[in-house]
Amino acid sequence: MLLNFRCPSVLVAALLFALTSAPMRAQTTPIQITADLTDAPRKLYHAEVDLPVTAGPLTLTTPRWIPGNHRPTGPVDSITGVTFTVAGKPVPWRRDDMDLYEFHLTIPNGATTLHAHLDCIVTARLSQKLAVLEWEKLLLYPADTPVRDIPIQPSLKVPAGWGVGTALTPIGPGAYPVPPAGSTTHFAATNVEQLEDSPVITGQYFHEFALAPMITPKHYIDVVSDTPEDSNLRPSVLAALNNLVREADALYASHHYNVYHFLLTLSDVAGGEGLEHGQSSDNGVGEKGFADDPHQLAESDLLSHEFTHSWNGKYRRPLGLYQPDFATPQQGALLWVYEGMTQYLGNLLATRSGLNNQAQYRDLLAISAANLDYKPGREWRPTEDTAVAASILRGGNPAWSNWKRGQDYYQEGELLWLDADTLIRKLTKNKKSLDDFQKIFLAKGGNTGPLIVTYTFDELVEDLNAVVPYDWATFLHDRVDKINPRADLAGIEQGGYKLVYKDKPNASERTMAAAGGRRAGGVDCWFSIGLRVAADGSIADVRWNGPADKARLAPGEKVIAVNGQIFSPDALREAIRSAKGTAEPIRLIVQADKFVSNAEIDYHDGERYPVLERIEGAPDYLDDITKPLTTPEKAPPAPKKDEE
Ligand SMILES: [Zn+2]
Repeated sequence: MLLNFRCPSVLVAALLFALTSAPMRAQTTPIQITADLTDAPRKLYHAEVDLPVTAGPLTLTTPRWIPGNHRPTGPVDSITGVTFTVAGKPVPWRRDDMDLYEFHLTIPNGATTLHAHLDCIVTARLSQKLAVLEWEKLLLYPADTPVRDIPIQPSLKVPAGWGVGTALTPIGPGAYPVPPAGSTTHFAATNVEQLEDSPVITGQYFHEFALAPMITPKHYIDVVSDTPEDSNLRPSVLAALNNLVREADALYASHHYNVYHFLLTLSDVAGGEGLEHGQSSDNGVGEKGFADDPHQLAESDLLSHEFTHSWNGKYRRPLGLYQPDFATPQQGALLWVYEGMTQYLGNLLATRSGLNNQAQYRDLLAISAANLDYKPGREWRPTEDTAVAASILRGGNPAWSNWKRGQDYYQEGELLWLDADTLIRKLTKNKKSLDDFQKIFLAKGGNTGPLIVTYTFDELVEDLNAVVPYDWATFLHDRVDKINPRADLAGIEQGGYKLVYKDKPNASERTMAAAGGRRAGGVDCWFSIGLRVAADGSIADVRWNGPADKARLAPGEKVIAVNGQIFSPDALREAIRSAKGTAEPIRLIVQADKFVSNAEIDYHDGERYPVLERIEGAPDYLDDITKPLTTPEKAPPAPKKDEE
């Protein structure tokens, strides 16, 4: 149910309406869909779909704008083998000439059920040992009805012996979460909007763990992996996840799900993922992503970020980001709240839960803030435009991306909400904080099942003013809508720290690099000569107007030699160090396509890497912010549900 409310009394009435208005305006018989994942190792999913119909013209559609992706990623181009029959007889179809997601049919007289078969070619989020089902890969439903008004009853087949994790409610006979070989698992009827929001993971090496059993409703983490040992998460990870559930419960003072399942794949093949859903989240990291502390550091905010979205993004959604169907474009204007505040909350929850520690929180924040501060694209593009243009900014080539800007509303939003949090603490002498705002903004309406309640900019301002009166509208407009050539570092400084640059990467960056994390083996000279270089010398990006740009270097070129030596990351670092305080340039030989040339970089300030440094005597709000609200659990871990 879509709501946009301002006060509790209106909310109660709206919620009652939401609970009593049956989602069956157009049809009462559910669509039946059976997803067959037994061919997942061969990169094929199959579906049998029975749709209630009446005689006459019918338009069916597949989803285009997938919530949470912030762009039109519906996999219509991978859907194949589509056939329609009534009582076994083929029914011809024709694709719409304008909307390629739509199929037109004419249902013959007397027909009440249309059977559809389709296959989807799936090349991501699966491996030989595991698979993720996002239902949009197999959905077909009437195009003219809001998706929340279309009832649907899902069923599932998986390879023999594979376990199943999902927030869907299993019904009928059969073991769950590991169904008997050859069986079909049935789930309670829901609607198309909710089914799209309820992915399934399945895999041979499967573990389901109950989390924080003292918290209601129930929380689980379902883990599948490519090797038997990885899905059996370490006790310290489970202890931190128990803390995460309890910390989120304390921070958000509400929940908007009937059950919550973290779905996690550990695979070097299935690809990375982080996609929020109301009652679950689809998380994908490398095979060893949680196998030890250094790997875990690089992934430490993933689960807390996606979990936070159940409140911020799913329950509370910017008005323009909610559409009653999956065909209408979603508008990204307030993504600096949807994603930006989630970035802020996910990171602080990771530290409050013990998925990382306070020093690591500060190191990661320093890296993020420095990257924003050294992003020349901010000289022409306001943060708001990175949100409005989100659907054309995701992915893409790194070349000159610092001049283009990317989806900066995530990290800009983090700095913005840190600024707001520390400002509230300052204004109230640390008696109130952004935690109090969450208890208003995200908990309005108390506990609910899965529900979407939209908001506008004005409601944000109103709720911030309910915490502490201030000119919040101007505060937000100044930071989001205006051209700001420098990043918003006020929150870090109000928090008792300042961003400085040292001649060595900070401890967390060194830990992640040693674990084979991002840019492992390469050299990040972004804050010195303005280059990101891979281990083989390939230039990923050149900082606009930086020293390397002035030397006419370009992304895609390859550094072959440094000061007369064959290129190596160490040789480049040594050249930067030895040019410090001298008048000598750093001399490079660079390959561009089939040609080589000389370049001289005029830079003499040495290596520079970001870190936060304490401002002695200032209030230490940054460390207050990342202190747990509950008593942390160290051990023992939660019992394994599948071994109880
Ligand atoms: Zn997110």
